[in-house]
Amino acid sequence: MKKVYAAIEAGGTKFNCAVGTSDGDILASTRIETKLPDETFTQVLNFFQAQSQNYQIESLGIGSFGPIDADINSPTYGYITSTPKPGWNNTNIVGFFAQHLKLPIVFDTDVNAAAIGEHRLGHAQSLNNFVYITIGTGIGGGIFCNGKIISGKHHPEIGHMFIPSLNPNDIYTGICPFHSNCLEGYASGPAMIAKWNINDFSTISPDHIAWEYEAQYIAYALANLILTLAPERIILGGGVMNNKFLISKIRLHLLKIIANYIDTVNAANIDSYIMLPKLTHSGLVGSLVMAIME
Ligand code: ZN
Repeated sequence: MKKVYAAIEAGGTKFNCAVGTSDGDILASTRIETKLPDETFTQVLNFFQAQSQNYQIESLGIGSFGPIDADINSPTYGYITSTPKPGWNNTNIVGFFAQHLKLPIVFDTDVNAAAIGEHRLGHAQSLNNFVYITIGTGIGGGIFCNGKIISGKHHPEIGHMFIPSLNPNDIYTGICPFHSNCLEGYASGPAMIAKWNINDFSTISPDHIAWEYEAQYIAYALANLILTLAPERIILGGGVMNNKFLISKIRLHLLKIIANYIDTVNAANIDSYIMLPKLTHSGLVGSLVMAIME
């Protein structure tokens, strides 16, 4: 039987699952709606058990929504930990699949997985220092520093970086349940929906002021990352970035905020410095790459 690798991109609204080759080519995939853990895991398990009729699966990579415990020495390694998502607090995702699939498992955040995918096969190939950020239902990021993903006492939480309010007189203070003036509270998809009192942010006209606010909030976060990490590139993914006009607004605000202080961030290179992902499914492909590298 052909040897393949398995991947799960575990998201708050869906689980993307795939098997693929050692080159990162996906052979079969499925999307499963995220319900409660037992029901979701059973459907994921069914997919991989069906695939194992045709393929010999070598290992599994899981890129998960968080927060997660990815410290291999921790008693709660492999858990989704303090998530506010109902029913998912302290869920042992690695334990479940280790028990039922009996495969080696590599576990990381969904955003680190996406960064790994872009590093191997996307817009960060050959870069040793870059940041991948997803801006969607939540905001999170993976950081490559000197060729390795940064993880310390906990994984970085770029989405909760504190940024200035653009209008101090605005009674709207952001939707993050933990902080008022954090990036996710101001600039996530749900934040836009709450702020502008709409059902779907993608219906906001491209020339609406909402996108200038959005671009400026994101640009402040990028400026902080550039000043702290000196990345070679920043890649912006996620549902909000699917509004393709947004990235050029972000680039313009970023140049204004940096104000020529960093001479390597300039109008001549900004289009290749702040980029959209190359991969359509960075997180899923990255989870596959994690399994391949196991
Ligand atoms: Zn926050």
